[in-house]
Amino acid sequence: METEFRDDENPKELKELGEALTVKYLDEAAPEIQPAAVEFQVCGHIGGVAVHGYVDLLDVQGRIIDLKSAARKPGDISNDYRFQIATYAQLILGGTGRARLDTLTKTKKPELVQQEFTIEASDVEQTQKLYPAVQQAIRAGHFLPNRSSNLCSRRYCSFWRRCEQTWGWRGLGMSRRCSFRTQGTLRLPGKRPAQRRADHLA
Ligand code: SF4
Repeated sequence: METEFRDDENPKELKELGEALTVKYLDEAAPEIQPAAVEFQVCGHIGGVAVHGYVDLLDVQGRIIDLKSAARKPGDISNDYRFQIATYAQLILGGTGRARLDTLTKTKKPELVQQEFTIEASDVEQTQKLYPAVQQAIRAGHFLPNRSSNLCSRRYCSFWRRCEQTWGWRGLGMSRRCSFRTQGTLRLPGKRPAQRRADHLA
């Protein structure tokens, strides 16, 4: 598959950045990780709703390790992110609820930030209530925008025109998150950009 670059992207710079981030992770994070499974699909039911997603890494202690890159150092673990990991934790056999977010900053000198956290009962409860609520809304024909999606932008979402016509323009916020549905299964946010489709607004 051929990679397409935007006019404002420099392939050489992107390649160098990718190499620097990879070396950073291999040097500083990889040596202590004992993987049990890498890049694997999980699926199951939460609150009676079919859900699936892709987990970056599960280590032999049953800890989910998620890897992200970011423009700058991350702050606290967001609620949206806890929702994603709480979903994985319920779908992984042998998952412990322990998780770590490894963030590589795409700064001139890349940094690795590791944040440990544990999924709590309230995180699980939230997923078990929200998935059915979203499913119910979709079945009733209500497709609400989710503009905290990291795919919610004119650049990444093919449905932004329709979305703007329906819901109005975003003002400051249209840069993140979208609820979406694929063939009756709710896909998790935060993974596999190329596979995501905001089918609900097609
Ligand atoms: S459909 Fe697209 S533009 Fe609308 S909320 Fe979802 S991601 Fe954002």
